[in-house]
Amino acid sequence: MRNWVPVAALMVSVAAGTAADRPAPHVVRTMDRYEVLAADFHVHVFPFGWAFISPRETLLEAVHQGLDVVAITPHDQTWQADLARWVAPRLTRSPIVLKGEEITTPRFHVLAIGVDGTVSNQLALEDTLDTIHRRGGVAIAAHPYRVVWENYDAESMKKLDGSEVVRPEAQFDAAAATELREFNARAPLTAFGNSDYRGPTPMGFSRTYVFATARTAEAVMDALRARRTVVYDRDRAYGDHALIALADANGGLPRNIPAVPAPGWLRAIGRLGTLGALVALVLFNRWNNVAVTTAATTREDVQSASCPTTRPDPAPQPGQHSR
Ligand SMILES: [Zn+2]
Repeated sequence: MRNWVPVAALMVSVAAGTAADRPAPHVVRTMDRYEVLAADFHVHVFPFGWAFISPRETLLEAVHQGLDVVAITPHDQTWQADLARWVAPRLTRSPIVLKGEEITTPRFHVLAIGVDGTVSNQLALEDTLDTIHRRGGVAIAAHPYRVVWENYDAESMKKLDGSEVVRPEAQFDAAAATELREFNARAPLTAFGNSDYRGPTPMGFSRTYVFATARTAEAVMDALRARRTVVYDRDRAYGDHALIALADANGGLPRNIPAVPAPGWLRAIGRLGTLGALVALVLFNRWNNVAVTTAATTREDVQSASCPTTRPDPAPQPGQHSR
């Protein structure tokens, strides 16, 4: 009945998606003995985590934004990251995909990057960090604002590998930016710029430049452990000082991101439209079924109330055409 609604949503979605389809050119940056890779290590995918974009669309968005590496970090689980890693080699262009998890507790949020298996969210912070390391991962404090500082004791700070020092919301909030910067300065931590991507906002708006010795997941993990990252906000640089100088000497790295300034809202309509069309199909189908059932019930009720005895249809009269 109302099938035009999902069909229209789908058409709008495809049109918007096509109009917005301007991927960033593939750039290979080499400096000294490093390949400099643009990365986002805090990415959520549909379903769960208030993320609206499927793993496949998320990887395409990463390509659009000129990212070489993404870590898929679902809350307290990792199967969506496995799914993304399965999808990646089936795309014509994909970033390197690292398996991740955002271990989410009332006291801390810690990103486990490159982990083998899922880490429980029931452990104390120190045990969480030990478990991440045992499973081959690196541990990053996610959005470590002042409210959680008291949970990061001296021992935990020693075991922590890195922290988010630039995030999208902090780029427009000087107080928030200061808190992230102060936390990162509390210990020798790898600097991360992450977007905490969920769909509507641009991925890689805050990004991490990784100085890797090769374009592989292993080389990226090695670089993170060796703190070979550089992160920029609008007017500062964070991370390894020698690498910041190396980047400056090589013409610098893009700071004012997203690299694709283009119509993010068109892509958002494109993706939300696809999702909306699916939801509408399910809802309208259900609604139609309900409507049909209700109509049928009502008709029977009326019939049984007004005509207690079933009468046969009147026979067509001569000269009448039955339709
Ligand atoms: Zn998150």
